[in-house]
Amino acid sequence: MMMTSLSSVATTLEAILAPSEPLELPPELQASTQALNDLWGEALKRIEPQVTPSALQTWIHPLVPHALEAQQGSITLLASSRFNCDYIQKHYKSVIEQTLSSLVGYPLKLVLTVGEAPLITASTLQARHTSQPQPLAPSNLSPHEAQAEAERLLKMQAIAISADAHRAWTPQSNRAKLNPRYTFEQFVAGQGNRFCHAAAQQIAQQPGIAYNPFFVHGRVGLGKTHLAQAVGHYLLQHQPNLRVLYATAEEFTNDMIQALATKKLDAFRDKYRKIDALIIDDVQFFEGKDKTQEELFHTFNALHQHNKQIILTCDRPPKELVQLQERLVSRFEWGLLAHIELPDVETRKAILRKKAQREGMTLRFHLEEEVLTFLAQTFDANIRELEGAFNKLTAQCLLLEKSFTLEEAQQLFGQEASERAINEHRILAVVAKHYNVNEADILGPLRSKEVAHARSMTAYLLRDKLHWSFPQIGRFLGNRKHSTMVYAIDKFKDELMQQPTLAKTLQSLAL
Ligand code: ADP
Ligand code: MG
Repeated sequence: MMMTSLSSVATTLEAILAPSEPLELPPELQASTQALNDLWGEALKRIEPQVTPSALQTWIHPLVPHALEAQQGSITLLASSRFNCDYIQKHYKSVIEQTLSSLVGYPLKLVLTVGEAPLITASTLQARHTSQPQPLAPSNLSPHEAQAEAERLLKMQAIAISADAHRAWTPQSNRAKLNPRYTFEQFVAGQGNRFCHAAAQQIAQQPGIAYNPFFVHGRVGLGKTHLAQAVGHYLLQHQPNLRVLYATAEEFTNDMIQALATKKLDAFRDKYRKIDALIIDDVQFFEGKDKTQEELFHTFNALHQHNKQIILTCDRPPKELVQLQERLVSRFEWGLLAHIELPDVETRKAILRKKAQREGMTLRFHLEEEVLTFLAQTFDANIRELEGAFNKLTAQCLLLEKSFTLEEAQQLFGQEASERAINEHRILAVVAKHYNVNEADILGPLRSKEVAHARSMTAYLLRDKLHWSFPQIGRFLGNRKHSTMVYAIDKFKDELMQQPTLAKTLQSLAL
């Protein structure tokens, strides 16, 4: 329930006025986390008219309530970076303190710390570190060096974690189990995910009408969860009274098992059926689980019959879910199937730029275009990995208080990068292997069909992946003419359009 009056704030506050909140909340205090969230939700509403919309959006909304220490009269909020802490401390401390103090009825001091809610924060890491300093430091260092190294690691970890901290929060989205960061605003559309993105937007605007169910499938780390949750956020932003629920297939399964064990099947059914939109993530998890499939089937029907939106994500298309009942497979195909693919380099760079902006990085450090390109080209399998690499780099920037050059970035990722980086040699080797021809033949004069085809594919990939110019491609491929390369690449593109299997082959190349 959303907080509506001061008296209800006071009632729920009783739950959180524990003398000293531990850093890691035991399960029995989960309810107080909710109350703390409600308090912060109420505070946000009151702060809103007092600051500019952009200040609210950039600085205040992303804060996450962490702990309220009644005895010390302090409230701890988590911010995504040290920079954000400093900035908020300087500019918004008093408005936040005054609002919260007036809500709880006694003076509260604001404590800002870097971290992610609710379990791991910089201070949790610090606490762990204090009790067991040894494992963090390499053993051949002097005690002083070890201490410094441990501190460095802790700092890096805290910064990396904070980079993924929650960005926005409303009581409704919290209840719907949505990650506040997975909104349309934070999703970059581009080649690879454009169709899915457009479809998701349409569904968000016409839930239950446009396409039902919406089935998003694709490899891991390409944004399926993000996009599915973005629809949920959009629905709640535009119709806050809608009941939206996100659950992974695993959570759905566990919930059902629990309900069976405790004979609370009715409550389980209410939870999943008496709602307006249901998002179930990673439905491949249901494979081989007959009982859960049975329940899912009825849940699906109940929702679908009432035009309630169903959104499903999966690592493959429904037809490939071989251990799923046929009636579920066919229902999954009733609405819209959307395949999410790896975004191209430019989109991957745009994702990083957006992330940098969100983290406040761009305010502090200059991000070289070539560094972004290097990251986007190197980490080309999965956006989560790309984000991980970016976190590592930005953590270093913050630690060393400096921007990074391309050489330094290359050094940082060392072996990993050189092994992964797509370069002309890797392209050549992979294509040669695929066609079972010699690399030297691709670069040489031979004109057999196989070799010619391998050559065209290499030329195409040099252009597509490395953005080489035609003369550059010609020089690399045995000093061939610029015009020959233009022709070969055009012809290859035509073939790609006409032969879906060729496009599949290209995707499957281990580049
Ligand atoms: P999946 O569910 O497909 O495994 P996720 O939705 O968990 O992938 O995405 C992995 C990470 O990459 C998340 O942090 C997500 O925010 C980010 N991400 C993926 N695609 C995009 C995109 N197009 N724009 C912004 N962030 C993205
Ligand atoms: Mg996912």
